[in-house]
Amino acid sequence: MGKRLPMQSEKTIVDHITVGLGKIATALRSQAWEGGTARKLTPTQGQILALLADRATKAVRLNDVAGELCLTAATVSDAVTTLVEKKLVKKERSAEDRRALLLTLTAAGLLEAKQTTGWTEVVQAGVKSLTPDEQAVFLRGLTKVMHSLQEQGVVSVTRMCAGCTYFQPYVHADAVRPHHCGFVNKPLGEGQLRLDCPDYIPGGEADQARRWQEFVGGWEGR
Ligand code: SF4
Repeated sequence: MGKRLPMQSEKTIVDHITVGLGKIATALRSQAWEGGTARKLTPTQGQILALLADRATKAVRLNDVAGELCLTAATVSDAVTTLVEKKLVKKERSAEDRRALLLTLTAAGLLEAKQTTGWTEVVQAGVKSLTPDEQAVFLRGLTKVMHSLQEQGVVSVTRMCAGCTYFQPYVHADAVRPHHCGFVNKPLGEGQLRLDCPDYIPGGEADQARRWQEFVGGWEGR
């Protein structure tokens, strides 16, 4: 028998998923860049606009923007300087802490953000091709991957249900909506779990660890 060559099929499912996630990230970056160049915005500037649009009613500290986007404060500061020059972002000192810089979108910035965030539509179209059950499983998988990235210190705090003080996993007998959100006081289904919720409040360390175990264990025990 001849020498057996390594085959593509010998890769694990973990390898395949990792490659797939990498391709999705590449697609998002290229779409972001295309959208950005048409409007003369870089992907970083577009990301900042999108984040500020998400918090439309609240000013966000420059350092918090850096933390959430996993960028240095210097990189964000450079991008914000350009956005202020373009009159898309307003920058001012915090009244409570004069060292902190607060960022908000101008009306023109909000309009630009709505156009810029259109780049996610290509990925949305892909996700919509999944069945509702597939979407729920995918969302749960993403939640676990995000949790691991957070534990490894690769991403800053993700404002997702599984770490939120309001989240009560598997407290309802209803298999469709087994979780509960104490903030809105309503049951939540798997497909309603948030990965970036503006109402997220982190619990204490021990509390978060317990809640995470209940979330993971509840699914495995079904
Ligand atoms: S407040 Fe937001 S993050 Fe917290 S449990 Fe409710 S939906 Fe989830």
